[in-house]
Amino acid sequence: MDQTPAIKIRDLVKRYAPAGKDAGAKADGGKLALAGVSFDVPQGQIFGLLGPNGAGKSTIINTLAGLVMKTSGQVEIWGHDIDRAGRNAKASIGIVPQEVVFDPFFTPFEVLDIQAGLYGVNKAARRTMELLRSVHLEDKAHAYARSLSGGMKRRLLIAKAMVHSPPVLVLDEPTAGVDVELRRLLWELVAELNAQGMTVVLTTHYLEEAEQLCDRIAIINHGRLIADKPTREMVDMTREKIVVLTLDRAIAAPPQHPMFLKSQISGENEVRITYSKDRMNAGEVLGLVQGLGYGIIDVSTDEADLEDVFVKLTSAAPVEG
Ligand code: ADP
Repeated sequence: MDQTPAIKIRDLVKRYAPAGKDAGAKADGGKLALAGVSFDVPQGQIFGLLGPNGAGKSTIINTLAGLVMKTSGQVEIWGHDIDRAGRNAKASIGIVPQEVVFDPFFTPFEVLDIQAGLYGVNKAARRTMELLRSVHLEDKAHAYARSLSGGMKRRLLIAKAMVHSPPVLVLDEPTAGVDVELRRLLWELVAELNAQGMTVVLTTHYLEEAEQLCDRIAIINHGRLIADKPTREMVDMTREKIVVLTLDRAIAAPPQHPMFLKSQISGENEVRITYSKDRMNAGEVLGLVQGLGYGIIDVSTDEADLEDVFVKLTSAAPVEG
């Protein structure tokens, strides 16, 4: 008796058409941005779509927003197929773009009221003040947008994405180029909205952001999903390392030590030992195995692709221009 996912994506492929006549050498049939991506966003969660620049995150978001036409695959939002029930799909999602652009002479109240009009929300059903309250902008309801701080503008953008009361909110890189304090305030706001029942999807290339905020994380790289797990499991995976040791004789039982997370025989005289990089390093693992009386003939490490991606992600500059 599974609950319908908030978002369901199956075999999503996007190949961008080659750019116009001037594209010159790039007459290769276009850029394959998504090479068959499948995942579900469960209802009620904060779901992080994590990946380095160029991974395909915006292409997924823009497909959900109806701004990019997928090449193939299936997408459902709140149970509505974007091809067969486009209007219902669109009504079920609010997208918070990265760019903050407002007409400086409109007030937050007007910005929301106009947006509600665009979405066909009739006057009686508009909840403009309630929305302003939920993003902590009620005092600024009638101030000019140009007098708002950067953080206030971002919060207004979030409210603007919610005028039609969608059950799913998508934030595209909510904290790109934002200072630490504002980042924390935005995280709090996202957590508050989620606590009120909103399913939230956010894209980020900061591991820390996904780790702090998300219930579940999917990692995308080069247009492919390489992991999709609850945050706890994902974080544990990044802490685990494996060394593969060839020992000087056949072994009946894997060498055991309380510091090893796992020790498994993987060949006649080969053993795979999993350890936490927070607690020890490979040299210490070798030392313990030798201490147990084994000679070591060869050593290799076995790292998940995930590790590489995380290294790339975490080494990215924290603020971009
Ligand atoms: P991300 O959001 O993870 O940084 P994108 O979805 O923007 O990644 O991009 C995925 C890939 O598709 C990149 O290689 C990018 O250069 C390419 N791409 C994105 N938009 C277009 C476009 N309009 N035309 C051609 N290629 C594009």
